[in-house]
Amino acid sequence: MKKNIALVAHDNRKKDLLDWVEHNKKMLEGHHFFATGTTGKLIGTVLEDVTCLKSGPLGGDQQMGALIAEGKVDYLIFFWDPMTNQPHDVDVKALLRLSVLYNVPTASNRSTADFLITSVLFADKTYKPQLKDYSTYLHRQTDY
Ligand code: PGA
Repeated sequence: MKKNIALVAHDNRKKDLLDWVEHNKKMLEGHHFFATGTTGKLIGTVLEDVTCLKSGPLGGDQQMGALIAEGKVDYLIFFWDPMTNQPHDVDVKALLRLSVLYNVPTASNRSTADFLITSVLFADKTYKPQLKDYSTYLHRQTDY
């Protein structure tokens, strides 16, 4: 079954992501990819079915977040840079927040990405991440 896999890498991690994609090309072929602009251009040299969004600092992370909120992303591979501040740090945080909120399997490093794509659940056509019911949580917040 074709999965929608979101790929994002900060500048200092782009080579790491490209290496990972090249190494796993066979496993990844046949799936559809969303990627932020510059990452997508790079990944598009290896994979075929890549939809490029805007560049991350220009709104691409937010577009990716919106796709998650719409249930259009099955996996997020986001190699963020642990050593450099980003001008769009708030967007990065928002994207990671939505991936938790919508229970999207997310990898921020190569070993986790390896575990994700080799999991038996990756090949399981029936697996759907459960969504937490936040209605009571929201209710508590407004119930003052
Ligand atoms: P980019 O964006 O793929 O356009 O570089 C990634 C990011 O910095 O969020």
